[in-house]
Amino acid sequence: MNPKYEELMEHVEKTEALKAAIVLFDWDTETLAPPQAAELTARMIGSLSAQYFDATVNGRMRELLAALKDAEDLSEAQAAVVRKLNKDRENMEKIPPEEYREFSELQARSTSVWARAKQNDDFESFVPVLKKIVDFSRRFAGYRRKEGQSLYDTMLDDYEEGFTKEVLDSFFLLLKEKIVPLLKKVAQKNDTIDVSPLRQSFDIGRQEAFCRFLAGYVGFDFERGVLAESEHPFTTNLHNHDVRITNHYYENAPENAIFSVIHESGHGIYEMNVSDDLTQTPVGGGASCGMHESQSRLMENMIGRSQAFWEPVYPKLQETFPEQLAGLSLSDFCKMINKAQPGLIRTEADELTYCLHVMIRYEIEKDLIDGDLRVEDLPAAWSQKYEEYLGVKPQNDREGVLQDIHWSQGSIGYFPSYALGNAFAAQIYHAMEQEIDVDGALRSGDLTPVTDWLKEKVHRFGGMRRTKQLLRDISGEDFNPRYYIDYLTKKFTEIYEL
Ligand code: ZN
Repeated sequence: MNPKYEELMEHVEKTEALKAAIVLFDWDTETLAPPQAAELTARMIGSLSAQYFDATVNGRMRELLAALKDAEDLSEAQAAVVRKLNKDRENMEKIPPEEYREFSELQARSTSVWARAKQNDDFESFVPVLKKIVDFSRRFAGYRRKEGQSLYDTMLDDYEEGFTKEVLDSFFLLLKEKIVPLLKKVAQKNDTIDVSPLRQSFDIGRQEAFCRFLAGYVGFDFERGVLAESEHPFTTNLHNHDVRITNHYYENAPENAIFSVIHESGHGIYEMNVSDDLTQTPVGGGASCGMHESQSRLMENMIGRSQAFWEPVYPKLQETFPEQLAGLSLSDFCKMINKAQPGLIRTEADELTYCLHVMIRYEIEKDLIDGDLRVEDLPAAWSQKYEEYLGVKPQNDREGVLQDIHWSQGSIGYFPSYALGNAFAAQIYHAMEQEIDVDGALRSGDLTPVTDWLKEKVHRFGGMRRTKQLLRDISGEDFNPRYYIDYLTKKFTEIYEL
C-alpha cells in the first residue's frame, strides 16, 4: 500500500471516531436523553466538532492529501477517499475555525429551541435562532463558493453534487406541469377510497412487533442494527455494522408506522450493504442524500405499497389484528395505503403529493438564500404556496413553517434531495424491472433477488461512486425525471381508474 495513504488512514481513524461520537450523541438526543441534557450536550458536541475540525484541517493532513491527490497507485476506493477528504478539507479550510465552532454549538442548541417553538406554536421565539443559522449558512457558502456559483447552488452541491438550481428548476417545472393536474383529477375521485377501517384502534405493542417483523422481512439485519422509537422516524449509522433506525406509532393509523419502518429499513439496508473495505472511511456511507432517499423510497413505495408485496404479508397483518382487518380484502387494503390526498404535513404526505411539499420548500429556500425573502416573512410565504399548489392552508405555524427540523439543524439545500430521491428511485426501479422479475419475487415472499440486485448495483459502492455515475451505470443514461412522472401517472391512473 502507498505509505502516504497508510499514514492518512491513521488520521482517518481518528476523524471517523470523532464523527461516530457526534452521531451517537445525536442519536441519544433524539431517542433517550432527558430534556435537561441539551445545553451541556451542545457544549460537548461543540468541543468534539472543534477536535474534528483540527483533525481534518491540519498541516500533515494537508501535505498527505496534496501528495496523494494525483497518486496513480491507489485503488478506486482509496482514490475516492482522497477525493472526498480533499473536498471536505477545501470546504472546511475556507471557514475560520472560531466560526465553525460557534456554528456547531448553535446547531446543537437550535434544535431544542425549534422543538419548543413548534410545541408552543411560537414562530417568533425561533426567529432569532433561524436568522443566525441563515446568516452563518450564507456566510459559509460565501467563503466556499466557486466563481459564478450562487450561494444556494453552493449549498445544494453539499447534498447533491452537480444538481444545480438550473437542473432543479427544470425538474420541478416538469412536476408542476404534470403532477398538479394529475392530483386535481385524483382529488375529484377521492371519495371512492374510504380509509375508515384503518382508523380503528390498533394496539401499539402489536404494531411494534409487526414492524419489527417487517424490517427483518425487507432485509434489515438485527445483528447489525437496532430499531428504537423517536418523535420522527430516522436512520443514522456509526458504520456498516451499527445501523440505527427509529419509528413512531399512532394508535389510529397503523399504516404510518408500517411505511415508516419500511422506509427507514431501506436506508438501513443501504448502509449495511456497503462493502466492508469502505467501512469507517469517509466513503463508508451512501453516495448522496438523494441516492439514500431513493433506496428508502424504492422500498417504501415501489415495493412496499404494491399488491405483489402484500400478497404474502397481508395475512400476517390480518392475524395480528383480526378484529380490525378480518373483513378487509387485500385489494381494498392496497387502495387505502395508496390513497392520495393533499395535506399540510410533508412527512405524512402520500406518494403523489410528496414532491409538491418539497417543491414548496425548494422555492422558499431559493428566495431565502439568493432572493430577498426575510425570515420574518416565512410563515406568509409558506401559507401562500400551500394554497397555490396543494389547495390547503395551515391554521398555525406548527402545521406550517415549523413542521420540519432541517433548518434548525442548519440543513439548507437538503430538501430537494427528497424529491430527487423519488425520481432516482423510479429510474432505478425501471432498470431493475428490465433485469429481474420483481413482482414474482415479491409474490413468493422472498425479497432476496431485489435486495441482492440493489446491493450489487448501488449499496456496495457506498460513497465510492458518485450519484450521477451510479445512475448512468444502472440505467445507461443521465438523470431522467420522466421515469418518475410516468410511474406516478400510470400508478394513480390505475388506482383511481382515471
Ligand atoms: Zn428518508
